[in-house]
Amino acid sequence: MTSIKEILPNAFQIIKKFDLCDNCLGRLFSKPLGSSSNKLLGKKIRRNLKISSVKCYVCKNLLSNLTPYLKLMLESCSKYEYSSILVGAIIKPSIIDRDDYIRSKYKLRGIESVKTDITKELAKQFIRKTKKKLDYLDPEITFTINFKDESCYIRSKSISLQGSYNKTQRGFPQKQKSCVNCFGKGCMICNFHGITEFDSVEGKISYYLFSKFGGTITKFTWMGGEDKSSLVLGSGRPFFVKIQNPLKRRPYLSKKINLDSVSISNCKIISELPKKFPHFTSLIKLQIHAQNEIDSKTLRKLKEILKKSVVVYEKSGKRSEKVVSNLKYKITSKRSFTLTIRAEGGFPIKRFVASDNVSPGVSQILNTPCSCTQFDFYDIELE
Ligand SMILES: [Zn+2]
Ligand SMILES: [Zn+2]
Repeated sequence: MTSIKEILPNAFQIIKKFDLCDNCLGRLFSKPLGSSSNKLLGKKIRRNLKISSVKCYVCKNLLSNLTPYLKLMLESCSKYEYSSILVGAIIKPSIIDRDDYIRSKYKLRGIESVKTDITKELAKQFIRKTKKKLDYLDPEITFTINFKDESCYIRSKSISLQGSYNKTQRGFPQKQKSCVNCFGKGCMICNFHGITEFDSVEGKISYYLFSKFGGTITKFTWMGGEDKSSLVLGSGRPFFVKIQNPLKRRPYLSKKINLDSVSISNCKIISELPKKFPHFTSLIKLQIHAQNEIDSKTLRKLKEILKKSVVVYEKSGKRSEKVVSNLKYKITSKRSFTLTIRAEGGFPIKRFVASDNVSPGVSQILNTPCSCTQFDFYDIELE
């Protein structure tokens, strides 16, 4: 290890020409000397050289005047719940240029930059004050201090949840329309939520999550979908959701949450969204209207559906097969009946009834045009 005596002549050469603060002076030599504090090392070198500093050539004394920025950080995170942080900075190019100039002029390689020292120093002071942890890999709060316009941008790590919902009233859709001004990206008009109304399953759940976690945008992954007129009963439809920029991280969530015609059950925080979403099957009850009269003998033909998979052809040319099981039917009038089936996730219910590029389909089997007037989910099972 290099001793302080060895670097003194070199330090003297530099400081004779360039006034440097303790931080910037120490930083130039802390690597070879293995010092953990640039500031203390700078002080020590200066004491040995007996040269005082007025205005640092590199940082213009920014490093010894970080208090206003620390205050800015504390103010901007006051509403957040967090345990770990990371600090980043945008600094004036002139500071970086002067830092580069000194480092290349004196061939000082492998030392940390003035920017790194500024963010390190800010993080150190922040942690001393708040007793939070520094986390380089996965911080709950990331600060970006902009020294150009003296602002502080804050980002909090998103939170992922999983749960199931039941829908016990007809007449509202699963998905919420995006804000017309920003198309869902988040803007002033939608309060950065990306949506302005909360009258769908997505809207109602989001509204609840915003009240619990704060946050800007919710991003849902649904295990299937339903119509506006459908009910979702049984154990409910599983979903995953990511809340961006949450304020709270550990609110209490009760086992069953009633949100007026939508209820959420088993809602819990998960460490991250699954890489691959699970397969699922749905137990669906369809109300079907037939153009011609039907009888139970004709309906018996529907059992044919169980013999092999139902083939679905997409406009794109894609072809897929879906397994249908647990088939039951019941005549309700001359031209209508109910059909209950368990089908694999992504089953095109209405097209299956209409035999619209789905084979075999109900219309095709019964040899009469049929349409699905309503369908409800009785259960959704994850595999
Ligand atoms: Zn300096
Ligand atoms: Zn918007």
